Parts: sequence; structure tokens; C-alpha cells
Amino acid sequence: MKITRIELFRAALPLKRPFRISLGTVETAGTVFVRLHGEDGLYGMGEANPSLPICGETVGTVTAAAEVYAKVLIGRPAHDIDGATAAMRAALPGNVTARSAFDMALYDLLGKRAGLPLYALLGGTRRALVTDNTIGIDTPQAMAQRAAEMRDAGFEAIKVKLGTTYQEDVARIRAIRDAVGADTFLRIDANQGWDRVTALKVLADLADAGIQYCEQPVRASDTDALAEVSRSSAIPVMADESLFDDVDALRLVRAGACRYFNIKLSKSAGIHTALRINGIAEAAGIACMVGCMIETRLGLTAAAHLVSARPNIRFADLDGADMLRDDPVTGGMTYGAGGAITLPDGPGLGADLRDDALAALDRTEFA
Ligand SMILES: [Mg+2]
Repeated sequence: MKITRIELFRAALPLKRPFRISLGTVETAGTVFVRLHGEDGLYGMGEANPSLPICGETVGTVTAAAEVYAKVLIGRPAHDIDGATAAMRAALPGNVTARSAFDMALYDLLGKRAGLPLYALLGGTRRALVTDNTIGIDTPQAMAQRAAEMRDAGFEAIKVKLGTTYQEDVARIRAIRDAVGADTFLRIDANQGWDRVTALKVLADLADAGIQYCEQPVRASDTDALAEVSRSSAIPVMADESLFDDVDALRLVRAGACRYFNIKLSKSAGIHTALRINGIAEAAGIACMVGCMIETRLGLTAAAHLVSARPNIRFADLDGADMLRDDPVTGGMTYGAGGAITLPDGPGLGADLRDDALAALDRTEFA
């Protein structure tokens, strides 16, 4: 079965409330959906959620890059995901978030053709998944109140965005721990907001605060600093912005730079490379989390299938769609009480966009 044509749909997704991290504040998330058609009438769906400060991409760059990737893919056999991955990277490197949407659509199409849900197509079994819920940067009091609401809603794990100053960040965690009590897992994420000295100081100060792990304390490119913080801190360090692909994974393993990996499809250019990262991690004794951008349940469903298929992916941070005011997705993973995620049993992703939602979007077609 050959790929015959590809459609792009651009959307702007308003958030329920502004979401602040150390890299900036988001009120509306731009996203690009890809619909990739095979010659037998089946199609695969994908979603690209560009993050400008993390991946350097926008809806505009994804659209421009998609024109190149569409030329590469149309006419190729749809099942050859390994070949498609290499050909897209060779034609236009970078643009990982743009590529992730095509990768996702190829897996969706293959799953539909095989009649298998994606987790089964990946050779895994269906596992019960639980996501944490994330609190953006705010005053300690406001963050503590949100944390108490999340605990009351049954969340076992709360992820807390930090990365401003030593005093503010320590005060935030003290207030949140006081509000939720001892039994809730707290995960923290500085999004590169600290320098090496501040990271060491914050993590030493919070060593008794019951922190499960700390994501990306220092700059993405500073492997030495990440390794020093990881070696010196009692709180395990998780690489996020330092980890895009399998080559990064190997570099981080060799440097002893972290204890955990945060894989995101929007950084790894999709599932194909995410599986390679997880393979390196597993061999190195590093457990993984799969995280997300602020995306719909379409992209999140792809991520949830990946988590379900690989036991070494121990943690899920897939709450992005919970931040959106409207949900344009039909089928797909669903949220239950306390962050429980249920995967659909249909073939491929088992997720699609509602016809009325799709009809309202700006569309481009390549054939
Ligand atoms: Mg992170």
C-alpha cells in the first residue's frame, strides 16, 4: 500500500487558564494535525504540537517543513516506517515536532491495516496507566491550593513547575508539601531555569521534601552541569530538554548525566526514535517517563500506546489535554479519576478528530 496524499489542518487551542513555566507563559496552544492517506482508502492521523522555546518550531515552520516531508512520503510504501524516518531526516533534519506527526500517522495507518491497536502493533500488552497532573508557576499560596485540589481529586503524583529563584522555588515546594501532606508524590521540573549552583542549592534544600525526581534542572546543552547535579543530588535527576533522540540518550548514558529520561514524541520525531531511546535506557538501567506538550487527546493517545507497550516506561505525564478548554477528539484515550488513563481498543491509535472540528480548521493538501 502506497501513500497517496496528505492533508494538514492548523488549529489554535485555547487553554482553561494560562500555563506558566520558566521558559514562558502559554494561553493558546497552536497545533497541526496530519491526515495521511493510503491507496486502499485507509488513513492515519497524527498531531504536531510545536513548542518554540523547547523545539524551536511553530505552526508556521511545521507547515513549511510538512511540504518537504509530504514530497518524501507520497508514493512510498506506508509500512516502511524505518525507511520513512531515515528519508525524512535526510531531506530536512531538525523539525522534530513536524516529523512526529507523520510518524504517528504512519503507525496509525499500519495499525488500522493490521487490525491491531497501536500498543499491540508495537509488540506490547495493554497496561493500566496513570498520569500525574501539572501545576504551572504561580505564588506559593496559589500553587499549594491547586495541589490540594489535585490531591482531593485523587492524583497520586503532582508535577510542579519551578525554575525562577532559589527562595521562591523552595517556598513553593514547602507550601505545596504542607498542603498535600506526606502521601502524594511530588515531581519537580525547572525547565532549565537554574544554573548549576542554584540547582545544587535547591535540591539540597529540598532533599527532605519527598521529591520523586527533578526534571531538567539546568540548560539543555550543558551535559557537564546536568551530570554534576545528578551525581551530587539525593533527588534523582531526569533529563528532558537535554534528550531529543537516541544519540542524545547514548551521550547522557555515557556521561552518567541522569537517572531518568523524559521522552516526548514532539522531541523524538515520533514513536520510531522513542523506541530506540527506550532501548538504550533499558540497557543502561534508566527508567523512562513519556511526557507531552499541550496537545489534544490525539497526540496523547499515541504517547499512551507507547507507554502501555513498554514496561521500562514507568511514568506518564500525559495531562496536556486536560489543560484545553475544548476537546476536538473522538475516541482516543480517556481520563478517569485520579489520573487513570484508559486506552481505546480500536485499530491504530483508535483516535480521530470530530468532523465538525476538522471542518472549521485551515487546511492544506499535498498530493
Ligand atoms: Mg519537563
